[in-house]
Amino acid sequence: MTVLRQTHSTTMSGEKRLLLIQAWSRNEAALRSRFSNLISYSSLTLAAICALIPEGMFETVDVVDEYSQEVDYDRVRYDLVMISSDTSSIQTAYRHSAEFQRRGAYTVIGGYHATALPEEVGMHCDTVISGPAEKAVPAFLRDFCEGHPLAFYREPEVCSAQFPIPDRAKITGRRKLRIPAITANRGCINHCKYCSMPVMWRSDPRPVQAVIDEIRSLHTRLLIFYDPNFFANREYAVALMQELKKLHILWVGNATADFGHDEELMELAYRSGCRGVLIGLESLNAQSLKGVAKRYSDADKYREIIANLHRHRIAVNGCFVLGFDSDTEEELAALPERVDRLGLDLCRFSILTPYPGTQLYRDLDSAGRIRTKEWSLYNQHHVVYEPSQIPAERLHVLYREVWKQTFTWRRIFRRVLHSPTLFRLPGIFLLGANIGFKFLGIDEKRR
Ligand code: SF4
Repeated sequence: MTVLRQTHSTTMSGEKRLLLIQAWSRNEAALRSRFSNLISYSSLTLAAICALIPEGMFETVDVVDEYSQEVDYDRVRYDLVMISSDTSSIQTAYRHSAEFQRRGAYTVIGGYHATALPEEVGMHCDTVISGPAEKAVPAFLRDFCEGHPLAFYREPEVCSAQFPIPDRAKITGRRKLRIPAITANRGCINHCKYCSMPVMWRSDPRPVQAVIDEIRSLHTRLLIFYDPNFFANREYAVALMQELKKLHILWVGNATADFGHDEELMELAYRSGCRGVLIGLESLNAQSLKGVAKRYSDADKYREIIANLHRHRIAVNGCFVLGFDSDTEEELAALPERVDRLGLDLCRFSILTPYPGTQLYRDLDSAGRIRTKEWSLYNQHHVVYEPSQIPAERLHVLYREVWKQTFTWRRIFRRVLHSPTLFRLPGIFLLGANIGFKFLGIDEKRR
């Protein structure tokens, strides 16, 4: 490996100043309103990185979550700037990196895009960190302070048992939902063709006791599990939920549709405090589900699954993706009514997005169907590829119409009034999230 740039400034390591940034795309920011902030929560990535910085290594550590804070290039002269970015915010990250380099800082970019396309990212910063941060960030910091950082770091083999508890002290909750997020099993065992999760993470459950200790330290009654599939490892989920029961907290998390067939698991989930799950239902067309290797493709069973979860007083946020190769214009136009019939408590829509690094991206790229590599448009609100059966512009119009029709006040109140969480604490958040999504849709329409 090559040493990219010597860091032989006259300051000792403990006198250096570090800035951490969570980059945020202006394109994405333009979709948000005061109300859609109701569905955003504080950055867990920044908190996890803060916990990896050895005490006393830097004179100051500043943290900026660009979602709600401005990046100021001139307020402090930083020695090191580390930027976390996904694909849609990568051009923002490049701009920050260039500005701070001009002011003499050493810059690092990590996150999803740096994992998928490290060579590209390497052209815009001094060091690229690909994959999980837990081993790579300490290795980089050690080399940086010794004056010989490398150009690329990738340490995919991390052991979740050794993860420190994320340090949330410096992370702003401004313009965010004040409910902490946490990870437990990290990752998903499935490999849907369009999903970016397997590119970044593999399933590596943290010790149950470590998760419980972290929850206790948060002093909270409400919690969001950030794992893409809380129930991916059934045995682990059962062990964790047995311990969660003793904490008397309420929580929400992500699941796959088959969770709604497992009576024992649903019962235990409720008793452990689960009051809502987000399920990537993705499509009501079984062919579309099979086409992207979705493991559960029985769309006819969705209504039954949601009813089962409601019987266990667990609310369901169903997510749908528009633009699969088998999707037709007629089907997508009928989505608001068809979604009504499922009895969901909340729903959200996105446009199929082929993130670099995924199988979907490779398939579409080799077929010459990628329309643009303007990464800021890779935010699930734009059509960046040639759809199979619907012109791209028409798909975008349909997408906006589906949001609009699904989030009329009449439909919002019908969803909330039918929810099993009505008159309970999560019911208030459900109403807030439904309103937040309504304005997310309207913001998109106004663009
Ligand atoms: S089930 Fe969900 S998280 Fe898992 S690979 Fe598929 S889309 Fe990704």
